[in-house]
Amino acid sequence: MDSDSLSAIREAAIDYFTRSASIGRCRALAEQPGNNHAAGWAEMAALGWAGMLAPESADGLALDLAGAAEVLRAAGEHVAPEPLLAVAGLSALLLTRLEAAPAQALLAELVAGRCLPALAWQESAGDLSGVPLDCGCEPGPQGGVLLQGEKLMVLPGAAASGWLVSARGDEDTVLLWVPRGTAGVTESLVPLVDGTQAATLRLDRVALPAAAVLAQGPTAQDALRRALAEGQILQAAELLGTGQAMLAQTLAYLRTRTQFGKPIGAFQALQHRAVDMFIHLEVARATLDEVLAIAGDAAGIAIERLEAEASRVNARCTAAALQASRSAVQLHGAIGYTEECDLSLFYKRTLRLSAWLGNTTTHQRRYALLAEGTSRSEAAVAWDGEFPRTADWGAIPEREFRHMVRAFLQQRYPAPLRYLSHRARWSEMRDWYLTLSAQGWIAPAWPQAHGGMGLPADKMIAWIEELEQHGVARAPDQGIVMIGPLLIQHGTPAQQQRFLPRILSGDHVWCQGYSEPNAGSDLAGLRTEAIQARDAEGDHFIVNGQKIWTTLAQDANHIFMLVRTDRDAKKQEGISFLLCDLSTPGITIRPIHTLAGEPEFCEVFFDNVRVPAENLVGKLHGGWTIAKALLGFERIFLGSPKQSQYALGQLARLAQSRRLFADPVFMQRYTALRLDVADLSAAYAGFANIVKAGKPLPASVSLLKIWASETYHRIGALLVEASEEQGAIAGDVDVDGQPFNALSPLIGSTSAMIYGGTNEIQRNILARQVLDLPA
Ligand SMILES: Cc1cc2nc3c(=O)[nH]c(=O)nc-3n(C[C@H](O)[C@H](O)[C@H](O)COP(=O)(O)OP(=O)(O)OC[C@H]3O[C@@H](n4cnc5c(N)ncnc54)[C@H](O)[C@@H]3O)c2cc1C
Repeated sequence: MDSDSLSAIREAAIDYFTRSASIGRCRALAEQPGNNHAAGWAEMAALGWAGMLAPESADGLALDLAGAAEVLRAAGEHVAPEPLLAVAGLSALLLTRLEAAPAQALLAELVAGRCLPALAWQESAGDLSGVPLDCGCEPGPQGGVLLQGEKLMVLPGAAASGWLVSARGDEDTVLLWVPRGTAGVTESLVPLVDGTQAATLRLDRVALPAAAVLAQGPTAQDALRRALAEGQILQAAELLGTGQAMLAQTLAYLRTRTQFGKPIGAFQALQHRAVDMFIHLEVARATLDEVLAIAGDAAGIAIERLEAEASRVNARCTAAALQASRSAVQLHGAIGYTEECDLSLFYKRTLRLSAWLGNTTTHQRRYALLAEGTSRSEAAVAWDGEFPRTADWGAIPEREFRHMVRAFLQQRYPAPLRYLSHRARWSEMRDWYLTLSAQGWIAPAWPQAHGGMGLPADKMIAWIEELEQHGVARAPDQGIVMIGPLLIQHGTPAQQQRFLPRILSGDHVWCQGYSEPNAGSDLAGLRTEAIQARDAEGDHFIVNGQKIWTTLAQDANHIFMLVRTDRDAKKQEGISFLLCDLSTPGITIRPIHTLAGEPEFCEVFFDNVRVPAENLVGKLHGGWTIAKALLGFERIFLGSPKQSQYALGQLARLAQSRRLFADPVFMQRYTALRLDVADLSAAYAGFANIVKAGKPLPASVSLLKIWASETYHRIGALLVEASEEQGAIAGDVDVDGQPFNALSPLIGSTSAMIYGGTNEIQRNILARQVLDLPA
């Protein structure tokens, strides 16, 4: 379904929930639990939503999963009390897959809103398998069946017209329809925290006619498992909706509630908590988008993959909504703890949805069992094709693309440079840089017109993952990831022709001169000065001042820098952006050793340095705009899953060598981090697509840098812990024949939370520019 259709569905849903005062209906339900939703359900059926997932042949709307997810997300945002997920979701998803006439007749009744079948599948707490164990059926009188057993958490409780029951038959699963009122069925209603109900069903030698059998065998089992997995994806959408609504309510409150003479939203502690709610929800949204695209793959996906993806997105959205619910109450103060505040309805709905159909831990556990890739494949890849310099990369299947990249790395990447634990120097990486350059693969994200590969976002992620899995070190790359893309966007044609080919060829190695001793987070406070001058050789600038923390300046031959060109203008308005050859007289570079003991960054001193006027990028005094554009590239680069992938790969290496995957505690923590990285990739892909489309990056890109560096840090911490005593060893140890350094990701990640604008500054940006909180 295209994005316009999805927006139309969302608008229609929001319009209905608003008009019908859904929140008020939810409140009525909370005050009078067990209300059977009759009026609301009839309206929803009239709108077609009872049959939103049913095919047109059954008078349904035939929405795909992404369309239905929009309805459920809107339902979450308005705490709709009607059993959309239970009936229009789970039951309809199951019946739609069954061809038998009784199933189709039941689907028609469901679509018309006359029947609310409830799916009765679960037999024990925390079960996600969908395989009936105790509930069984056997041949009964007159060709019918006898049903015996118990089912838990059957929603929507008393509102159900009957039950779609899964049972163990002679050989395999059987699906049966048990209408309400059938003898032998005892229903115990269980009140749920949000005023809705579940039922526990006791089925005691329930006699059913042969026509009650809707499906059996592998068809029944597959239909049930798919319906459950897709239902879990829809539930994730509903949870995302509740979380987003709680964030919106909290932001509105932060902007209006006043204490100490100002809106409480001006307090940084609260801003940062609100930002964290936002980040978790945005990552959840990106994950949902990605999983919906995977699940909607027309070619059909294997059930195990579908279940793994359902668990991935359910775990993510559940965690994000729960985190939002807790912060929302805290940020409201006492009013948030009252029943009269609408937040209470969202809080309790989130609790109910989080517990039903598997909680975060249960889904993480299933993901670990089902998803491929716990072990890293080191097997040599056979590749008898060419390594093309350029191609329509988007048209190449991902598997083939990965094979090609992996084979290239295996053949060409120097083995001694795998898994380096220090920041690689130019002298070490130069040959590899030139190999990539000769191949035409040195600038994967640049457009092909400028000599890059022009990779689309999904291939870019595959590229990053393959390089990380092979342990490829990061070459000095400020030319490729920063100044190159900036010149493509803001440079003159002459600057592009002069500098871009030399970046690609490795002739120019760049470093970034932004920070100064007294201009760190407050970058606009910089004082390095450039004064315009003219002599016989032409217009130029004379630069004086000092830069600091300049990464690998000692290896670079060029620096791009921010300088003050107007001392009297307002801070940001007197800054210009210059390109400078580091061999120009008057420049001194002094390396500084990092906490890891490496000379990774430098001080750079400028003493009457002459810079030609044609090296000005953008307008004179217009450098702040250019600097911000560059920070956008930097943030997306720093927000890439690269470092986390690398650290996760190291963790997997260690775990394999020490058999840690057999330890359930380790496995749980490893899986949570693995999901953090997978979902980081989903968020990254969204922003990478914006860049690819040539659009400016929104300020929300800051969330990527925060999520990426903090994920990297969490992995680094587990790596040290899992290394036991080796976690304190200085330098490399040997793990299965390759160097391994337990400390380097942890130490590296501490700096990742500082450089490129600290994570506190990124949170400030998100609070002000994205969440519109007051100063
Ligand atoms: C490994 C590494 C490589 C680097 N490479 C480069 C490079 O190549 N080129 C370059 O120009 N710079 C580089 N930097 C510098 C980097 O950009 C700065 O360190 C960063 O912007 C922070 O500035 P600062 O270190 O002066 O910290 P400060 O600005 O002094 O911050 C100190 C603490 O105060 C917090 N803080 C400051 N202001 C606020 C606020 N308004 N609200 C909340 N918290 C606040 C910060 O988050 C931080 O926790 C690098 C840094 C590192 C660590």
